Amino acid sequence: MAASGAFDYRPVIVLLRLEASRRPGRGNLVTDQQEQERFLSQVRKTETCWLWIGPGFGRGYGWAWSKAAHRMAYELFVGPILYGLQVNHHCDVRRCVNPAHLYVGTQSQNIRDAVVRGRHVPSRTSAKGEAHHLTRLTTEQVQAMRWRYGVGGITQVALAREYGVSEPTVRDILNRRTWAHVG
Ligand SMILES: [Zn+2]
Repeated sequence: MAASGAFDYRPVIVLLRLEASRRPGRGNLVTDQQEQERFLSQVRKTETCWLWIGPGFGRGYGWAWSKAAHRMAYELFVGPILYGLQVNHHCDVRRCVNPAHLYVGTQSQNIRDAVVRGRHVPSRTSAKGEAHHLTRLTTEQVQAMRWRYGVGGITQVALAREYGVSEPTVRDILNRRTWAHVG
């Protein structure tokens, strides 16, 4: 029995233990493994790529719990992604979430790599979207921005930072003042 004036710490200790089991650091293997298993339940592994079959399937990149699936894969199996960096694919398969195929880099690095692989073919025959010589975004990125903003959990400011464009650019894309031809 607690004497009057003495604080009973026991409920606090129980709460702290609960919190510790719920929010482990990278050291808690059990929960990390559970998260990985939950993630992998949405993945079909092939001999090379791990294909995301969860939400967003068919839109290019997959979406795992309102986060790009390949970013999620990197965080779950490799480690934290430094702020402002993006996760790129060695294999060029956008819905691939095989950590061995992922690497962290900048957007300009991704574009440079895509040019080397021949995916990014700049064209000046049309002034629409990614063919426009002033535009740095791709059709897929525009679709991803609208989709992610639509499902919530990310601000226009965060989108602007992540894609390396200005906030007005993001606003125009979301309001379809630009890239209106992209569904
Ligand atoms: Zn792959």
